[in-house]
Amino acid sequence: MELDRPLPSPITPEAKPFWDGLRERKLLLPRCQACGHAFFYPRVLCPRCHARDIGWIQASGRGKLHAFEIAYQAFHKAWKIKPPYVLAMVELAEGPRLMTNLVNVEPDPKAIKCDMPVQVVFSKLTDEITLPLFEPVR
Ligand SMILES: [Zn+2]
Repeated sequence: MELDRPLPSPITPEAKPFWDGLRERKLLLPRCQACGHAFFYPRVLCPRCHARDIGWIQASGRGKLHAFEIAYQAFHKAWKIKPPYVLAMVELAEGPRLMTNLVNVEPDPKAIKCDMPVQVVFSKLTDEITLPLFEPVR
């Protein structure tokens, strides 16, 4: 199978639970054990209180579209997704935002609105890498 995009590499120790969860079709988020703040991207300390005691929670997979852009050109030749496609910043129900693609929707500003409800779609690229993409909730 030809991949349609570059794979994330290397996977860092602090992000490993995130990628392991995606393989099992779970969207996991790091959460600070000291102050309870859930955040993204994974890192070794809490961005709010700087504690290093980080645990993981399973996110609902639900959220809303915070912002989007319809891309009419690939920004790199390694990107083989046929444009137009939708770059999206999704705000998860748990609070953190993540950059992703909005899929299963017409790449048309008439069909896509900020704050529209979205849900995760697990897109398996390889045995190692599954990506969390999002689609509108219908
Ligand atoms: Zn904290």
